[in-house]
Amino acid sequence: MSDNFDLIVIGGGPGGYVCAIRAAQLGLKTACVESRGTLGGTCLNVGCIPSKSLLNLSENYHKAKKNFFNQGIEVSDVRLNVEKMMSNKNKSVQVLTKGVEFLFKKNKVSYLKGKGVIFSPTSVVVYDQGKKTAYNTKNIVIATGSYSSSLPGVKIDEKNIISSTAALSLSSVPKSLVVIGGGYIGLEMGSVWKRLGAEVTVIENLPFITPGMDREVSNEFQKILAKQGIKFKLNSKVLSIKDLGSEVKIEYQSNEKNTPDTILANKTLIAVGRKPYTEGLNLNKIGVKKDEKGRIKVNKKFQTDIKNIYAIGDVIDGPMLAHKAEEEGIAVAELLAGQSGHVNYDVIPGVIYTSPEVAYVGRSEEQLKKDGIKYKIGKFPFLANSRAKVNNETEGFVKILADSKSDRVLGVHIIGPHCGDMIAEMALAMEFGASAEDIARTCHAHPTHTEAIKEAALAVDKRPIHF
Ligand code: FAD
Repeated sequence: MSDNFDLIVIGGGPGGYVCAIRAAQLGLKTACVESRGTLGGTCLNVGCIPSKSLLNLSENYHKAKKNFFNQGIEVSDVRLNVEKMMSNKNKSVQVLTKGVEFLFKKNKVSYLKGKGVIFSPTSVVVYDQGKKTAYNTKNIVIATGSYSSSLPGVKIDEKNIISSTAALSLSSVPKSLVVIGGGYIGLEMGSVWKRLGAEVTVIENLPFITPGMDREVSNEFQKILAKQGIKFKLNSKVLSIKDLGSEVKIEYQSNEKNTPDTILANKTLIAVGRKPYTEGLNLNKIGVKKDEKGRIKVNKKFQTDIKNIYAIGDVIDGPMLAHKAEEEGIAVAELLAGQSGHVNYDVIPGVIYTSPEVAYVGRSEEQLKKDGIKYKIGKFPFLANSRAKVNNETEGFVKILADSKSDRVLGVHIIGPHCGDMIAEMALAMEFGASAEDIARTCHAHPTHTEAIKEAALAVDKRPIHF
């Protein structure tokens, strides 16, 4: 044994690294084990950060090519350099992953490089390039994240049949890309490659995209993406995918028809969801149990069946989002330090970083109906928002759902410019139990997109000013 810790966190993603930093801040002697070679997990290395970088860069390219001319900015010969774009993205990733390493040093978190295996409830063995080191610890947090799942019988080889990881690093623009799955990862990556010139088709098993999202917003979202040129085959099941070498043949069938169709594409992106990653942790032997979906079972305090072993992030139940993992990491660290850490699962925002963005927090109309809660709706279109109008970004709307008796805000759903940032105001309002009237009476700066939020809140009481 080379060291004794109060806490060893396995996994250096947003759940794990944030947990480790908070635990160290609270005086626990903490280590974090990461096998990837860089910190930051899926999010910083092959998830949130590189995808947002490419979304931003591809949007700039698209605007320069398609929008600038009409706005009186005449640039000639706009050309795409995919290699440079990728290196730009890689630099952003590198800066941020190194940043986490710096934060570990600053907070005195020991960074253990290698694969962590739970040897016993009080010891973790780290394997690194043939070297094996054992560490004693009072507590363990499992934050090992998730991996892209595939369809039955389909092998993702990251050549023509790719996951989001390869879709973030293609060396050239494919002529055609078929995205399997109309969730946020597929739609974000589809948007990137569409803007850069690929023909993009999305095949989705359900009759709508982005399951779980307020249906009115998801329908509007699909219409806007279709207008941008993304093709949709909804209510369609993929039957088989064959790699023909230079192309991929995708056989699919509409759920309303009996005859299959085929589509050929240069690449197909499998974006049908992610699965919790627990391989090689030794969970069975230790007695840490999983549910039927392979997620580690935890109680309200994030404890597994073994009381001093905790789990957080994508590896447990709940939305697979970086900020949800971070909140759980902080809650566990605070619980370990004797504080009362908790996560409010009713107020976890979700954002899709397409153009326009889509953002939501709280319950959708469908959920409220299911829960038998009576609600009022206030809606305001960006078409009537002055800032959106001057910026030529008038698609979308703000929709506020409030309790019909108490007026308390129960859910906010926005599709429109910059709403990924705007949703934070609504999350804060909901954390404080705000009513729609509270938001309506809050002064919002003019001219900003956030005035659409105030107007939607006024619309809950049928008194918007500008619509
Ligand atoms: P991860 O980030 O997956 O980290 C787990 C880490 O554990 C990994 O680095 C892994 O190498 C390591 N590990 C696993 N086993 C071991 C072991 N035995 N020993 C040592 N290390 C181990 N979420 C958002 O909120 N916003 C977004 O915009 C967003 N965009 C995304 C885009 C894409 C393309 C993808 C794929 C995901 C995106 N996500 C986004 C989801 C987000 O990345 C995850 O929800 C988040 O990373 C989960 O954090 P985590 O800490 O639970 O796990």
